[in-house]
Amino acid sequence: MGKREIPYKTYLAENEMPKEWYNVRADMKTDHRSLLNPVTQQPAKAEELEAVFSRECAAQELNDSDAYIEIPDAVRNFYKMYRPSPLVRAYCLEKYLDTPAKIYYKFEGNNTSGSHKLNSAIAQAYYAKEQGLKGLTTETGAGQWGTALAMACGYFGLDLTVYMVRCSYEQKPQRKTLMRTYGAHVIASPSDTTEVGRRILENPANRSGSLGTAISEAVEVAMKSGGERRYSLGSVLNQVVLHQSVIGIESRRAMEKLDEYPDIVIGCAGGGSNLGGLMSEFMRDKLRGNANPYFIAVEPMSCPSLTKGVFAYDYCDTGKVTPLAMMYTLGSSFMPATSHAGGLRYHGMSPIISQLYHDGYLDEARAVNQTDVFDAAVKFARVEGILPAPESAHAIKVAIDEALKCKQSGEEKTILFGLTGTGYFDLYAYEKSLDGTLSDAPPAQDAIEASESKLPKMDF
Ligand SMILES: *Cc1c(COP(=O)(O)O)cnc(C)c1O
Repeated sequence: MGKREIPYKTYLAENEMPKEWYNVRADMKTDHRSLLNPVTQQPAKAEELEAVFSRECAAQELNDSDAYIEIPDAVRNFYKMYRPSPLVRAYCLEKYLDTPAKIYYKFEGNNTSGSHKLNSAIAQAYYAKEQGLKGLTTETGAGQWGTALAMACGYFGLDLTVYMVRCSYEQKPQRKTLMRTYGAHVIASPSDTTEVGRRILENPANRSGSLGTAISEAVEVAMKSGGERRYSLGSVLNQVVLHQSVIGIESRRAMEKLDEYPDIVIGCAGGGSNLGGLMSEFMRDKLRGNANPYFIAVEPMSCPSLTKGVFAYDYCDTGKVTPLAMMYTLGSSFMPATSHAGGLRYHGMSPIISQLYHDGYLDEARAVNQTDVFDAAVKFARVEGILPAPESAHAIKVAIDEALKCKQSGEEKTILFGLTGTGYFDLYAYEKSLDGTLSDAPPAQDAIEASESKLPKMDF
């Protein structure tokens, strides 16, 4: 029999799409610590979380016992607009690198939001609608999450207010237009529409905004809506990692069809949702002792929460209105350099990812320079055709590095990485990269220490 021909693209049929999300917490040996009420420092109860999130999302946030959670039909039907997403064999990249490695990527950019974020947005909007809420509030940085939630809220007829980090709002005005097209109301953050925004604006240095600030504003508006609205977050939370598990489950099913299994799984890590979603399905094998894939989280050198952060309780926002999460963090007052262009600028990391990293199941975190990231993005675009989001290009950079190591050693490893989205709204940063004017700005050690020294003091 001849060698099996593996196609460039593997698509599952619609009826092969998962009917359940996988909740990796059910298999984790040490579960991560609960979210804490910031005032009492006691574990946040469902009722407390329900003031911020929809009821079902609060329940999912706390669920560490059910390994599988049913995907509602309405959500699965929406998924069918843009899923299953292709698993691509990167033959062109392999040839270009002249590597014996087999490189696969799961491409999540085939929808208008241009990223994997829609996988969670539609679930969160659905549960809000089911509960009879009037609408949601959220923040957005680069804009993919705001767009995804605008699409999801538009679909279910929910109101949406998006606080968009001001420097991004000014750099990417068309993102705003896209969100408005789906019916969202977009406000540059920090703004004078909230108490916390006005307080943060008292220091003019804060004008360009941050994700942490935009979160504070969005949470405040939800909390003051008289119960009509809830807040929705596009990453970091357990519920988001749960919804994103659809990426890994589809990847595994497609790889099974090809008789393949990854030796190395690579994801970029901002708040950790795509990595968590891609990884969970394979992490289960590792946690249950059935296989031992090597997991790598890739983060920007300018916002290195896993590689330079501390594992501690911290606020999820700058204004300190959210519950405390046990996570790798640079401190909630940390601001990456303004010259940092490539997204992934959150100060903390998903508690699930953090605990798996702390316990050594997530094998490695690697911080990379943005000039190298954009070089990898351009190479990838030229050989594979897709214009990657700068965030995704962090994973590309490390996939290339690992494939080149295989070239050195002659090993034929199977590499799987997450290609989370497309970069059409990031052409300003691409332009700088092509002009050679992009620079690297890793934070000074004392800046990290200063921010980490402001972590909340715990009473235990
Ligand atoms: C938001 C985003 C990321 C980073 O978020 P995670 O929660 O770490 O996955 C990565 N890639 C794209 C395209 C994004 O939009």
